[in-house]
Amino acid sequence: MTNRTLSVIVSALALASLAGAADKPATAGRPNIVFILADDIGYGDLGCYGATKIQTPRCDKLAKEGLRFTDAHSPAAVCTPTRYAFMTGQYAWRKKGTGILPGIAGLIVDPSRTTVPSMLKRAGYATGVVGKWHLGLGTTPTDYNIEIKPGPLEVGFDYAWLLPATGDRVPCVWVEDRRVVNLDPADPIKLDYSVKRGEPRSFVNGIPRIGGQTGGKAALWKDDEIADVITAKAIAFIEKNKDKPFFLYLPTHDIHVPRVPNARFRGTSQAGVRGDTVHSFDWTVGQVVDALDRLKLTERTLLIVTSDNGGVLDTNGPDSKNSGTVETNNGHAHNGPLRGNKGSAYEGGTRVPFIVSWPGRVKPGACDALICHVDMLASLAALTGQTLDADAGPDSFDVLPALLEGKAGRDHLVEQGNVLALRQGPWKLIPAPPAGKKRPARSGSGTQLYNLGDDIGETRNLADQNEQRVKEMTALLQRIQQQGKSRP
Ligand code: CA
Repeated sequence: MTNRTLSVIVSALALASLAGAADKPATAGRPNIVFILADDIGYGDLGCYGATKIQTPRCDKLAKEGLRFTDAHSPAAVCTPTRYAFMTGQYAWRKKGTGILPGIAGLIVDPSRTTVPSMLKRAGYATGVVGKWHLGLGTTPTDYNIEIKPGPLEVGFDYAWLLPATGDRVPCVWVEDRRVVNLDPADPIKLDYSVKRGEPRSFVNGIPRIGGQTGGKAALWKDDEIADVITAKAIAFIEKNKDKPFFLYLPTHDIHVPRVPNARFRGTSQAGVRGDTVHSFDWTVGQVVDALDRLKLTERTLLIVTSDNGGVLDTNGPDSKNSGTVETNNGHAHNGPLRGNKGSAYEGGTRVPFIVSWPGRVKPGACDALICHVDMLASLAALTGQTLDADAGPDSFDVLPALLEGKAGRDHLVEQGNVLALRQGPWKLIPAPPAGKKRPARSGSGTQLYNLGDDIGETRNLADQNEQRVKEMTALLQRIQQQGKSRP
């Protein structure tokens, strides 16, 4: 045997022992975790959920090789409360001030609470958030000209690259950790949220926004580069932390209004600009997957792709205002067979795509378990061997057996639309509004009970034939509200 042959054998043995070490439970229990949260992508927007006028090959491939959930829910039917509940494991309706926030709102997550990132940080993870925050920053009204805190770094993240609120409202600047990126101190940012709904909006980058912004010119983002910037920063975070377990929370701005896809996505779908931004989202997912592959992290990474609420076809998007045309989607059903849209208590408000990928660990297939983003705290704690304090994540169920093996999920779930609804098995209750109160028309009238098992479109109200079930579910919903927690 030559020295060279011997050294090849020794290297091979060393590699084999390294590979063996990676299989041991201690490290297998701490995979990297990437949680990609789309904005306003509906149940029917991805190819793997039935879209035909929009092509999403990267998400479809993940779904084919991983687990595709058909009854997964965002905690709420709009942005801020969903993000709050995901972060804390607490239903957002339990806490005042968790509605859709303006860009001058202070942080709404109590830094003393256990959060997904603080829990994972305790477990030894590097934690980062890249993308749309919309949980408030600093103290109201946020001053973007100074060090901004508290913010993500105070609730468990080591690193943050943020779009502070949403693209349709000011400020239109990036925040990295606690500072606005490229801010010229001689041109301070001034924000004005005194404009009321219905009054003419102010324009930034030629696009109408909620709230006005003057100053901060050098720091303004470019709308058609938002997806590219978020993707690049996400990949940079992965590269920087490739040698330790990391948690990346990646809330994209796609496909919220203003929908300004990069030119390379314009006109690529058959479902209008809205469809083009779904293509942009799929590209982002693909870039992240490619980065994980390139860095040989794929088999050590739990990747989840989902959305923060159901889809909606906005008619008030800047795209339509600027062009003078009403946004069209060419008949594409953004929520598939579901009733209702973003904001609604019907399934179209919160039932969203949810794909889990972890090659070698996740059992491929489809899964009809009832799960919710509010469950991530307890489930990721279980995955990483963490015990939650009694007051942490009061509404977070450990649904890890569903996430990894397609087993059963929760037995009930409160769906937060513009009213609270309750799911229990296939049953869905939208209770009658309290006496003297009117309910938004979008969520129907009177007491509604549907059996989603054979009526996913919520077309047949069975409340009258099932008085006992209505009574029991109404009582359960009230109990969950009064008890302050629902976690078993
Ligand atoms: Ca949203």
